[in-house]
Amino acid sequence: MQAKEDPEIYFEHEVMAQTMEGRNINLLSISSQEGRLDTKEAELLNDSNLTGSNTSCFRKNKMIVMFSARVHPGEPNGSLIMQQMLLDLARQEDSPINYLVIPMINVDGVVNGNFRTSFSGRDLNRMYGKKAALCPEVQLVTDLLASHKLIGVVDLHGHSAK
Ligand SMILES: [Zn+2]
Repeated sequence: MQAKEDPEIYFEHEVMAQTMEGRNINLLSISSQEGRLDTKEAELLNDSNLTGSNTSCFRKNKMIVMFSARVHPGEPNGSLIMQQMLLDLARQEDSPINYLVIPMINVDGVVNGNFRTSFSGRDLNRMYGKKAALCPEVQLVTDLLASHKLIGVVDLHGHSAK
């Protein structure tokens, strides 16, 4: 991605978890370099199990917004919006926000051609707050929400009709 070569833009990619079929669930962190600390989150909090442990830490008052898409595999227009959004974020050299982005939550569902469900046959968007042993994707998002002080969460969906 172009932003990785731009010294004004902070861009980091990490694999946050594996799906039930062993595919990667990716997390991107995109921001300006402003407020970036030398210490990684895990070192700062002394917690190697912290979700997002490889992402850099920014000063405490830097705002964090999370974007995600494709919890419902049959909504590919969410990926189109995500693609353009990532291109736009990669051009914001003075962004006061750190964007945490999960481009595709339900990777197994997308690869298998499911319309709404994951590999385990569950609608992941209905599993938040429930026992999620069969839904590592939901656990990932839940941990991310718990370990970061977010000012906003945008989960992209797309329907042609209700
Ligand atoms: Zn949806």
